[in-house]
Amino acid sequence: SQSEMPRPNAPGFNLEHIEHSNWLLEKTNLLVEKQYEAAPIINGEFAEGTARKLVSPANTSIVVGDVIDADAHTIDAALTSACKAQAAWNNLGGERRALILNKMGELIEANYAELISLLSREAGRTLNDGISEVREAIDFCHYYAASARQHFVVPSSLTGPTGEVNELSLHGRGVFVCISPWNFPLAIFVGQVAAALVAGNAVIAKPAEQTPLVAAFTVALMHQAGVPKEVLHLLIGDGAAIGKHLLSDSRIGGVAFTGSTETARLINLQLAQKPGPIVPFIAETGGLNAMIACSSALPEQLVDDVVTSAFLSAGQRCSALRVLFLQQDIADRTLELLTGACDELRLGNPWELNTDMGPVIDQDALTLLTDHMARMEQEAKVLYRYPTEKVPTEGSFFGPHIVELKELAQLEREVFGPVLHVIRYKTGELDKVLAQINASGYGLTLGVHSRVEATAKKVFREARVGNTYINRNMVGAVVGVNPFGGQGLSGTGPKAGGPLYVRRFATERTYTNNV
Ligand code: GLU
Repeated sequence: SQSEMPRPNAPGFNLEHIEHSNWLLEKTNLLVEKQYEAAPIINGEFAEGTARKLVSPANTSIVVGDVIDADAHTIDAALTSACKAQAAWNNLGGERRALILNKMGELIEANYAELISLLSREAGRTLNDGISEVREAIDFCHYYAASARQHFVVPSSLTGPTGEVNELSLHGRGVFVCISPWNFPLAIFVGQVAAALVAGNAVIAKPAEQTPLVAAFTVALMHQAGVPKEVLHLLIGDGAAIGKHLLSDSRIGGVAFTGSTETARLINLQLAQKPGPIVPFIAETGGLNAMIACSSALPEQLVDDVVTSAFLSAGQRCSALRVLFLQQDIADRTLELLTGACDELRLGNPWELNTDMGPVIDQDALTLLTDHMARMEQEAKVLYRYPTEKVPTEGSFFGPHIVELKELAQLEREVFGPVLHVIRYKTGELDKVLAQINASGYGLTLGVHSRVEATAKKVFREARVGNTYINRNMVGAVVGVNPFGGQGLSGTGPKAGGPLYVRRFATERTYTNNV
């Protein structure tokens, strides 16, 4: 209700405090040898399938765990069980489901250190990335629980002229398929699943094939928290293969997806062609995110925020800065500071305290980035390459790069990694800059560095993007504070961590009784 105080966001750690870093390192050091297992989880049990080893992207000689990929038979078992269990879960009511989500948040918090350790080894997430990701996962659980209490417990009563009883209420849609990416293998996984569950849906979760271990670990916590085993199933394996069976099945009631724009189009096509009901598609996809820095920007703050926005998490965030528009008068000075800052970034094992950037997710990601730089060498001006001798060779590492372009149209699509593109603009060309940003068709995040309020307001008004950040970095949206999600090529618009998100997973019913 309105009078309820919002729950504070989950606590973090400050690794600059020696007690915090010692605590975390002590815990994670105990886990470096631990071997994990993941398999499809159907009715709470590991299913059989095709076996593979999962190695760390930071060091391919480190095996993190054993993985079993799902086969077609397993997909069918998940659907059959989920369909059968959904009505009872929906009838349990919003309050009971919210309590289970709160418990989920508590169990994730109780496993803080182990999750950070696993995230660093399986997904190459640095300790700081891990800390903020675990916090976000906890916050999603409690925030969506609070949303459910607000929207799913008491129907809205709508009075009519004739004295009849009219009530509007929200219900689960059926079986929701949640397809999540490897770049936030815990937070986005948990966010989608928690929202779908609390809205009264049964869930089949399909994490990225690169990060099944953290997903299987988390599903076990969710079952432990009280989600019935028949209500939540996990499928792991190749997205295209699983998608082919799962998304063409008439029994699914909705899909939530975070990943590339190209994959979102394929899913949309499959959903359009499948038999059975027309189902909602919640998509959060890529971005060609820009930052506009005008001559009034404070140089040190600007450079700090550019480095964070473009290179944190090795640039593997859909919110990350890809194209920096620099006003001519400050361009040379900013670029000089920026290249100096890039030299300071330390690439290394993500589980080590002094690492700024871990690896990119795998060899394919590395190849895409290398190919992009080869193309930029021909078509643009490469301003900065991170020194090769400082790049670790045991895994898929790629250092920060800076490229100067003439116009945004030189990039056709998102480049997912630590490559920053820079475009200079002149005084009086702000309209031209905004036109380029809007013409890209993407609309996720946008940064502005300007002390001129009118500039910030104009950019916010005219840019068709989901999240505009002014005089700060443009990553790390906080649950309940910076509802996150884009438009156009960047997605269908629901805001993760926002007050309306869980409603998108529900269907509305009107009850009319002429007593
Ligand atoms: N919510 C994240 C952020 O604001 C990005 C999520 C993503 O990369 O998909 O940095």
